[in-house]
Amino acid sequence: MTKLEMGAAAQTAVKVEEKLFYNRYLVDAGRPHITVRPHDTPSAALLALTRICPAGCYSQADGGQVEIASDGCMECGTCRVLCGESGDIEWNYPRGGFGVLYKFG
Ligand code: SF4
Repeated sequence: MTKLEMGAAAQTAVKVEEKLFYNRYLVDAGRPHITVRPHDTPSAALLALTRICPAGCYSQADGGQVEIASDGCMECGTCRVLCGESGDIEWNYPRGGFGVLYKFG
């Protein structure tokens, strides 16, 4: 690929964040479909969720605990695979009619 072609490809490349912007969410207020088990110090797996969740739902509080804001969850199941069995999180699908609404697919 020439430098010119690489430049053109870079200009047309779409970032994941821009694609995620097209998704819409119907928030089930007060009924999050994923919860984090209360903890003082997060496990390594729980801490990893702050880096691997593609929607950036997990964050670390000032005290070091891992928190979730599940409103933007894409229901990919990554966190469920990593932490569901250990009990670090409780994962359920949103109630019918709530959650992510994919615009394309
Ligand atoms: S299911 Fe996927 S998008 Fe939703 S909180 Fe877990 S890792 Fe993030």
